[in-house]
Order: sequence, then structure tokens, then C-alpha cells
Amino acid sequence: MTTTVQTSPARASARSTREWQAADAAHFLHPFTDHGALAKKGARIVTRAENIYIWDSEGHKILDAMSGLWCVNTGYGQQSLVDAAARQMQELPFYNAFFQTSTPPAIELAELLAQVSPPQFKHVFFTSSGSEGNDTVVRMVRRYWDLQGQPERHVIIGRRNGYHGSTMAGASLGGMSGMHAQGGLPIPGIVHIEQPHWYLHGRPAGQSRDEFGITAARWLEEAILAVGPSKVAAFIGEPVQGAGGVIVPPSTYWPEIQRICDKYGILLVSDEVICGFGRTGQWFGGETMGTRPDLMTFAKGVTSGYVPLGGVLVGERVANALIEAGTDFEHGFTYSGHPVACAVALANIRLIQRLNLVEHVRQDVGPYLAERFAELSAHPLVGETQTCGLMGAVQLVKDKASGAPFASELSVGMVCRGHCFGNGLIMRAVGDRMIIAPPLVISRGQIDELMQLIKRCLDLTLDDLRQRGWFQ
Ligand SMILES: *Cc1c(COP(=O)(O)O)cnc(C)c1O
Repeated sequence: MTTTVQTSPARASARSTREWQAADAAHFLHPFTDHGALAKKGARIVTRAENIYIWDSEGHKILDAMSGLWCVNTGYGQQSLVDAAARQMQELPFYNAFFQTSTPPAIELAELLAQVSPPQFKHVFFTSSGSEGNDTVVRMVRRYWDLQGQPERHVIIGRRNGYHGSTMAGASLGGMSGMHAQGGLPIPGIVHIEQPHWYLHGRPAGQSRDEFGITAARWLEEAILAVGPSKVAAFIGEPVQGAGGVIVPPSTYWPEIQRICDKYGILLVSDEVICGFGRTGQWFGGETMGTRPDLMTFAKGVTSGYVPLGGVLVGERVANALIEAGTDFEHGFTYSGHPVACAVALANIRLIQRLNLVEHVRQDVGPYLAERFAELSAHPLVGETQTCGLMGAVQLVKDKASGAPFASELSVGMVCRGHCFGNGLIMRAVGDRMIIAPPLVISRGQIDELMQLIKRCLDLTLDDLRQRGWFQ
């Protein structure tokens, strides 16, 4: 046995970094990863975390500006979540909800979710992930239209560069071309429209953001007319595209989408897996964007990622149809309403309420992040910045004046991410768009620290690109 560092759990220090990396490469196939390349390089081993910081096995302290993977909204080390899990595991670690049985944590969580969500939501269907939530959406939406006597209404419209998870249905609803290229996706009956990305699509066409918002929403109407309005079941979108690169749509976009959905009677599904639970400064992103969704998918922030849980909030229009159907909805998971996951979610939502985190984002740190992020526009590499609540994006460009991008083979975003990693900052690269979504508990002082890190990493990236002869 090696001696243990006092602040590090025994398991983490039981092996050296190299030993962890070797075992990782030998046995662990990581998600969305070039396995061969990672095996050569070695994974970064993360061993502990507190508040908005993580530590790796080499003892580096890193500001986690991605909240794990968009999920650790109340921050690391929240004892009330740990206690809730331990208490529930002792009392009732598992019981199912299939055979006319239920458990107190699942019931209480369903009740609390109905309280914190918009008034049309009184029911919830539980899953263990966002992907399973969106699979549930596909089955539930098609079931709804069957029950309405319109089984031909089965087409669901999503968006290119949208992200709705990695199961067959989730990846199909999403519009990630790399995912569609593997495994014969999308499944039948899914159609995609272009994303509301002003910098890519509106700016070159000379449109103002607001004009472009209307244009982009009308792409939905064009798709509905092309498919045939009597065949379209639903439209799904993230209020702000997350994995696609924190693409904040113009304020005109979502109200126009809502109008079009209403006009053709199609269901509106808001994928709130990232935007839900305070991220945008309201409980749900649809509230920030001015929509009235029929269904809302959630996961990630519902438990702050401490344990897996997801689900679908089901509006009265669809819920009543299911309740009045008189037959089973043939769908569900072993862990639908898992008591431990639900107990942690209850503790997490109560913590969000106790700490007033939604107001904290809306009135304090959200506006402050927006103010500080705008400063980055002056940097030679930055084409545009965007924020919404506690999400932010910095678009790196080759030519500020024209907005011309770097050649994609240069992977400039990955160069920048490397400098972030090396300097104690987790920031994600989506192409050449650098994005953040820090824990909602972040303070103004910590945003100052974050901004200092971001500026330093942008400067280092600039120097690096100049040395490589890729800039100016
Ligand atoms: C992460 C994510 C999902 C998928 O959730 P998983 O828990 O990874 O299955 C779905 N939708 C959005 C918007 C997401 O960000």
C-alpha cells in the first residue's frame, strides 16, 4: 500500500496516475471517444470535487465550468443529497412501479415537479436518463395520436445539430451528422430542419437577429407543409441548444415556433435536459423562451448528477388522453421512479429552493456573466459571444471583420481546450465554439476568477496559433 494523501480518498491514491490510466485503457470503453487515441494518451483521472472545483490524480485543482456534463447544478459536496441517498438506501433501496405499486419518494417527487413546472404539467413519467426520456417522448407522442384516431400522424420534426441523447430514438431526434453516420440512423419518421444559429445562417444573409429568428422558425412551417400537416405529430427542440454549442436563438424564434405548432395542432416538446432546473434563470427554459410545451424532457440537473434520473413532464392534453385510454401504455423501465434517485432529486430541488438558485441565476450571476462575457468580444480571436442564464459561448474566428472561420482540420477549438485543461479550467469545444455552463451556485467572485482564466487561455491560444502560422 502507498501512503494516502490526507485530502484524497484511499481508493484514489491506491494507484498511481499511470496505473489508473493503464487499467482504464485496458478495460474501459469511454463514450464518444476515439479509443485508440485515448489509450495512447491516457485519460485524466478525476478523484474528488468540492463546490465548483475538481481535482485530478496529480493534485491539480480545476475550475469545472461545465458542471460535470451540464448537470452538477448545485455544485459538488452537497451533504443533503448524500444524506437523502443514504437514508433511502437503508429504508427502501428499490421497489418497482409496474404492478400497481408505488413508493413515497417517487410520489413526492412527482408532486413537487408538478409544483415547480408551468401549470399545464401535473403528471410525470420517470426514466433514468435524458435519452430514455426522449425515447419515451417518441412512443408517447405516437401513442397520443393513435388514441386521437390519427395514427398517420407519426412524423416528429427535430433540428440539425440538436442533441437529444444517444439511444436509437434519442440520436434520431437529434441532428448530429456524426451520430447519424453510424448505425443506420435516423429511424423512420423523423425529419430535421436547420438550426436557429444566427452567426452561421443569419449574419451571412444580412439579416438582423430578430428577422432571422422568424425566418428560422418558418423552416418548421415549410417542413410541416412538405411532410403534410396531417402526418406531423410533434416538434422537439432544446430551448437553447447545449451540446450543439450553446446556440441561443433570437428572441423572436420560439414564440413563432409556438404559433406554428398551434396553427397545425402539433405537439411541442421542449427538451429541458440542460435548460431545466434554473439553468436559464427560470425553472424551465421554455419559460425563458415564451413557449407552452405539451411535453418536457428532463434529466441531468434534476439530481445535480449525483445519481441518474430522467423523465418526461406530461402536459394535461397528453396525460388526459393516456388516462382516459382504457388500455395500457406499453412502455416503462425497471428503474422508472427509482426510490433512491427520486429521494436525491427531492433533496436537490428543495436545495435549489432553499438557496434561491433560480433567482440567483436570473437576477445576479446570470446578468453578471452576460456583462463579463461581452468583454471577450474585444479579443482578436472572438467573432461573437452569447450567454443565456448560466450558459455561455465564445465563437473563435480567423477573421473578426468578415467572420470567416478557421479551416475545420485545424481543430482550433481543441487547441484552445488544451490550453484550458493545462491551466486549471474545464471549458468545452464544439468545433471552434468554446462553451461553459458552470454550477448555478457560482458566486460573482468566482465568475471573476473564471473570466481571468478564460482570458488567459484565449491569449495563450492566440500566441499558439500565431506560432503555428495559423493566425495573421
Ligand atoms: C444530455 C442530453 C440528453 C441525453 O441525456 P442522457 O442522460 O445522456 O441520456 C438529451 N437531451 C439533451 C438536451 C441533453 O443535453
